[in-house]
Amino acid sequence: MITKVPTYFYENIYKVDYQNLKDKGIKTLFFDLDNTLIPYDIPYLPTEVISFLKELEKDFKVLIITNNNYRRTKLAVGNNFNFMAHAKKPLKKAYYKALALTKSNVWEVCAIGDQLMTDIIGANKLGIKSILVNPIDPKSEGIPTKINRFRERLLIKKISKKDPNLFLERLIDFNAR
Ligand SMILES: [Mg+2]
Repeated sequence: MITKVPTYFYENIYKVDYQNLKDKGIKTLFFDLDNTLIPYDIPYLPTEVISFLKELEKDFKVLIITNNNYRRTKLAVGNNFNFMAHAKKPLKKAYYKALALTKSNVWEVCAIGDQLMTDIIGANKLGIKSILVNPIDPKSEGIPTKINRFRERLLIKKISKKDPNLFLERLIDFNAR
């Protein structure tokens, strides 16, 4: 079960305890793009997100890893941050590539995203710390993500039955379920 749940849950990227991550030796942050940083239907990263991530870059390497296509990602991120499009999360190769790109070891990385089936399970497979955040705007999600959400709800239900404490600690406030 533990490989299916996030290391931490926070309401959104602004609420994450980055100091705690730093204290635990985290040097690199992998951010998901859609519904973690911006809704699917917003083309550009808003200035407040850019400034927030720029601030984080004083303490961490930042890489945006998305399963979305290059065009969407390039338009959204521009030259502001390093990114990996078409990542194919939760496949392990996505994370091997991201680790190589950021010259990071697994124990130095924390991955932040809004989906259990991709962002969290993918990171956990390699032993990368993971943070689940609430999706910014679930209404903006397309069919493939809706299917993932369906599988996610079943998984969360299973976790809540098998390990109620883990559910209460890390999933009860997740609002996509
Ligand atoms: Mg997402």
